Amino acid sequence: MRNLPRVLIVEDEPAIAELIAVNLRHNGFQPTWAMDSATAQRELADVLPDVILLDWMLPGESGLSLAKKWRADARTKAVPILMLTARGDESDRVAGLDAGADDYITKPFSTKEMLARIRAVLRRRTPENAGGVVTLGDLQLDTATHRVSFQGQAVKLGPTEFKLLNFLMKHAERVHSRGQLLDRVWGDHVFIEERTVDVHVKRLREALGAAGAMVETVRGAGYRLTTQVTVRTAPPEPVSTPAAPLSNGLRGGQPA
Ligand code: CA
Repeated sequence: MRNLPRVLIVEDEPAIAELIAVNLRHNGFQPTWAMDSATAQRELADVLPDVILLDWMLPGESGLSLAKKWRADARTKAVPILMLTARGDESDRVAGLDAGADDYITKPFSTKEMLARIRAVLRRRTPENAGGVVTLGDLQLDTATHRVSFQGQAVKLGPTEFKLLNFLMKHAERVHSRGQLLDRVWGDHVFIEERTVDVHVKRLREALGAAGAMVETVRGAGYRLTTQVTVRTAPPEPVSTPAAPLSNGLRGGQPA
């Protein structure tokens, strides 16, 4: 699986869409092109992009109206939207931002500026795409080197488990449903079964060893990465050591 950020280009002029797509591809993004609102809607239903470049003037439904609609939809409301338009008037910019756009690019624009704005909006809206080291308890993940460690010991993870852990660490203590994880980690909740999430969570727990306990299953809700658990770090105690009382006051194994 490639980890390149997905960009949905909604633009009715093929020459402009092609120019943007070529530049995105050359700069480490995965562009998809939708030439009208209906196609864009279908694309979004299939795969959630990391950012949307949205032309204001579209045949049929306008970009402004689409931005409003996507902001109101629970599934798409967190996807950053950059409005792309020839309109440069202040009132138009305000209308675009009021409709829920994160930023505004006026045509004609330099591709350098467009790329810089896309990166900026990704950093703001999707911290899991930002580089750097993230630490949670004794767990550390470095997105630049793709290294994970627990208490200083290296942890080996597959690419999907790495992406999953990266997302969970940057949104720790919150419960994520399987559908949300598919959308945010896999970028797809339609063609991938929810069971896939369970498989990769299981692999992640196994790879994490003692720290696997930090990945909690929340029944009927999903998964959560938390520091609010006791992570067993020392090797198992010898049998002769007296067992600590359980939290309910009973000794282990004794019936109530
Ligand atoms: Ca247009």
